[in-house]
Amino acid sequence: MKRSELIWPVQTDSICSYISLQGDIRTRQPTNFGMMFLELRSVTVCGRQKQRRAHFNAAANFESEIRSEMEQNKRGTMHSLIATICTITIFFGLSLAASPARAKESVAVVVVDVQGDFTTARNGSLAVPNTDQSYLENVSKVTERLKKSGLPVYATQDWHPANHMSFASNHNGKKSFDTINLSDGRIQVLWPTHCLQETDGAKILLNQALITKVVRKGMDPKFDSYSGFMDDGGAKTELDKALKAADIKTLIVYGVATDYCVKATVLDGLKEGYNVYVVSDLCRGVDAEASKAALEEMKQKGATIWNSLDMEKIKEL
Ligand SMILES: [Zn+2]
Repeated sequence: MKRSELIWPVQTDSICSYISLQGDIRTRQPTNFGMMFLELRSVTVCGRQKQRRAHFNAAANFESEIRSEMEQNKRGTMHSLIATICTITIFFGLSLAASPARAKESVAVVVVDVQGDFTTARNGSLAVPNTDQSYLENVSKVTERLKKSGLPVYATQDWHPANHMSFASNHNGKKSFDTINLSDGRIQVLWPTHCLQETDGAKILLNQALITKVVRKGMDPKFDSYSGFMDDGGAKTELDKALKAADIKTLIVYGVATDYCVKATVLDGLKEGYNVYVVSDLCRGVDAEASKAALEEMKQKGATIWNSLDMEKIKEL
């Protein structure tokens, strides 16, 4: 009996990682290699040519180990080989399940305001265009993939009291999307009532198991809070503190709306010193032109814009 360890390149969740395959080689008679290889190949799926070559090299090494073991001991039964195949296959399967490719520990995901009232999928009061069920499913799928790769997921949540200053209904004679001038010279857009605390419209539409921490914002009736980091009065949310406590240096950001809360969160993230990556095909904006300009501004200020998520790139962060 001999202990063997091989390094296998495998594809998990679009990331190529290397898993150590260990097994006790118990083969004691010449027998059916084809069967062994069939078993091993059935659990190893590599999409790229380079990885496939590495796979076959590893297989070749494995074959020579088995051959040498067999030459040393010609006795034994077919059962021992079958037991070996089962052991290796089960071990390999467990490795796949337990060892998804790990991204760096200093990277976190920030999902901005994916809430009922901001989506057409839930007939939200302030639904951002193109936020239907397929958008939500895509966000969930990608977030799950990132979570499985080991990244913590922070979800921001607009969480307003009924008397919030951003609601048009709280300003006499004003209607939704009117603007008002604030005493400090800023212009405030007035919105339909949205994301009221404890309502369905405020719910985050992601599986809760995916979320490491929910960061609420916009609770102060006197200030709006597009940014996940702080409100317009400068009061910080819990986000920066939580990220720093987890030693996070890099953020992957997406959500709604590109031209408001995503933009403000990204710009504040850059100001706080984080490396920021924005996944644009997972962002949706209120206004198409403003969203395009917002992405350009984020880029100008130092963010990297990815059109879509590439798990290979995550490994390099
Ligand atoms: Zn709001």
